[in-house]
Amino acid sequence: MDCFQELVFLGIDVLVLVVCGNQYIKLRKNCRALKEAPQLPIDENLGERLRKEPDQKLKYVVIRGSVTPIGRPLHSAMSPSVTGVLQTMTLTEHRVARAVMGFWQEEKQIIHASSNEVPFRIVNGKHGVEIVNGLSAELLDMDTVYENYEPSSLSLFDHVFGLFSGVRQKGLQTTEQLLRDGSFITAVGELEVENGGLRLQPPTNGAPMFLTTATKNTLLNRLEQAKSSTLLKVLICGTISAVLVGLITRKIYKRKKMERDERKLREQLEKSRTERRSRLRPTNLTEEQRCVVCVENPKEVICLPCGHVCLCENCAARINLHCPVCRAVIETKAAAFIA
Ligand SMILES: [Zn+2]
Ligand SMILES: [Zn+2]
Repeated sequence: MDCFQELVFLGIDVLVLVVCGNQYIKLRKNCRALKEAPQLPIDENLGERLRKEPDQKLKYVVIRGSVTPIGRPLHSAMSPSVTGVLQTMTLTEHRVARAVMGFWQEEKQIIHASSNEVPFRIVNGKHGVEIVNGLSAELLDMDTVYENYEPSSLSLFDHVFGLFSGVRQKGLQTTEQLLRDGSFITAVGELEVENGGLRLQPPTNGAPMFLTTATKNTLLNRLEQAKSSTLLKVLICGTISAVLVGLITRKIYKRKKMERDERKLREQLEKSRTERRSRLRPTNLTEEQRCVVCVENPKEVICLPCGHVCLCENCAARINLHCPVCRAVIETKAAAFIA
């Protein structure tokens, strides 16, 4: 297959296109949902308003308030004076790995992640809304309260081992993030009345939940930007796909045309040779001057090594194994000229 390379590129490109396309569709849906989501103040009217809704539920709303733990807050593991309500700890390994063509490239891999949460509300004055499943938010702005990078001290053995395995550890990074109590955040999600209180949770219709320090407009701008850059990727991938399809089609068309032309030329040559031969053939032949197979055309071909001149060219094209006179194996055939 002479367009194998193009096909491989096309396959990869289509894959990227599908991924970006899906991402774009998702971002467009999220943008629209967020744009339409009402921003409601947390006050005494919020509960009243919610009770009037069908199922006492609002599918997608934006609320703002400050984070307040229900009960005791979490203490940071690394700096215990800091308290919060959501906590994640990640241990990341930094390493260099041998990539294509023998180059070493840096990469990171999370080797351990853990999280913790306590129930909390976001509060405005006397009123508040409980946040459920905050850790599953698609965007979760937390403060980094601790970060430490420890370079690995490698022994000679580790170096030699790394040379063979293609992976060498550079260091370990520990990061602790916390959603601090008291921080003022925007929460986006599904709002409902539960046991007399209000709670916000990840929407059941698949829209993303957000817990962010950004305002609704900033968040919307960020989503719009991501949407535009994804659209650009989709357009670029689409163009590349179209160009590749064009190249492949042209190659296939050219090859087919070449094959057709060659066949035509071969047929023409064959035809003109047959014509020429039939013009040159003498007509009044004796019995022994005629081909032993068709008994019509003159003898024109010698079978070797037996040396019998016994076939016309047409019959010689079909007979390849044994001489029709002596049954000897035919090794080659040649044109014979009888003067
Ligand atoms: Zn013949
Ligand atoms: Zn023979």
